Amino acid sequence: MSRTVIRGGLVITAAEEMHADVLVEGEQVVALAATGSDAADAWTADRVIDATGLYVIPGGVDAHTHMQLPFGGTEASDTFETGTRAAAFGGTTTIVDFAVQSVGSSLRAGLDAWHDKAAGVCAIDYSFHMILGDVNDASLKEMDLLVDEGVTSFKLFMAYPGVFYSDDGQILRAMQRGAANGGLIMMHAENGIAIDVLVEQALAAGRTDPRYHGEVRRELLEAEATHRAVKLSQVAGSPLYVVHVSAASAVAELAKARDEGLPVFGETCPQYLYLSTDNLAEPGFEGAKYVCSTPLRPREHQAALWRGLRTNDLQVVSTDHCPFCFVGQKELGRGDFSKIPNGLPGVENRMDLLHQAVLDGHLTRRRWIEIACATPARMFGLYPRKGTVAPGADADLVVYDPAAEQTVSAATHHMNVDYSAYEGRRLTGRARTVLSRGTVVVDDGVYLGRPGHGRYQPRSTCQYL
Ligand SMILES: [Zn+2]
Repeated sequence: MSRTVIRGGLVITAAEEMHADVLVEGEQVVALAATGSDAADAWTADRVIDATGLYVIPGGVDAHTHMQLPFGGTEASDTFETGTRAAAFGGTTTIVDFAVQSVGSSLRAGLDAWHDKAAGVCAIDYSFHMILGDVNDASLKEMDLLVDEGVTSFKLFMAYPGVFYSDDGQILRAMQRGAANGGLIMMHAENGIAIDVLVEQALAAGRTDPRYHGEVRRELLEAEATHRAVKLSQVAGSPLYVVHVSAASAVAELAKARDEGLPVFGETCPQYLYLSTDNLAEPGFEGAKYVCSTPLRPREHQAALWRGLRTNDLQVVSTDHCPFCFVGQKELGRGDFSKIPNGLPGVENRMDLLHQAVLDGHLTRRRWIEIACATPARMFGLYPRKGTVAPGADADLVVYDPAAEQTVSAATHHMNVDYSAYEGRRLTGRARTVLSRGTVVVDDGVYLGRPGHGRYQPRSTCQYL
């Protein structure tokens, strides 16, 4: 078995920081020992990676991506091959993507289709949540089977009537089933029925520009849906994980539920922490680049999101990576904002944007690792195989240079999309060497991995319950 030692770095996990050497055998971390100690110095290895002056962190776990998602008459532009390669460049070594059950179809058919898309092409490890697009007796029964085989989380939509939407009765039934079988219900919490009325009214009044996407998807309709989801989960006796929280008032709903002791969790995304309705209002049709749902909010909401991450009212930062090219895809919505495919690229940028937040004073280093690696792994049943640096864990490791400077740009990123939501932004910090299960997949900006290295990861149930 090949042995690698990473020497001299500052190992950072969610729990601690220590100057330690890390010994990797085959695909796993087998030991840590203080740098310079007799134990560490006695290790022999086939390869030594010098991490002096650098961090050694667990690979990022991005629990919310949509590679190749069919949406709005087109398809997300990253395949599992391009998207996972880009993730690796950004220091993320596990993604949890969303398989989709379409209306009239089974969960099994949807899951099989996503396995087919991902098999043999991923650069890093991957797993699946299941989108419940059609809650009925048959799909409720199928949920049990999926939990047993390692698909332990199910996403429901209070938005997108006619596409992914579930009514309150369907939501309640799915939550009851989750309460019984251990599946975690993930919720897109926006009142889509009310939003569709406002969309129709805006378009009828000639308000067709991208910025109206943000205006009709009112903050109140995110807060109302979040509140309703909490109450429905309470009735069902099930846990709840609210995805892509963007509104301050929605954070308040989650905080209130958690204060009451309910098993309610929340995720936000870098776009809500760094971008705002100012971007949606960029002149010409540029605002289309920032159309996603929930929408970007006025800048004032960012403070509430950062605070929620510090107080643990929000526990996870995922990307909701769902890229559409500006040319030919976002452009489908010229003259009608409701036809702009919803989604932003970001899987490559998350670890660095959150490291920048450490430098900016929003987060501690350990909290950075907690929200980006450890908690998503625990939330979705992958810990401690993923999300930490410890004996027995997979050797998904990032040697991270906290002083490296970069300027984010579509010209240099690796995502298969023709723009960056963070174009021109200067960030300090960058993954230098990325290992996936002991194999170096990125080193100094060079891709050394291969399609098919990434392996499907069945998951246990949520580890917070
Ligand atoms: Zn999503």
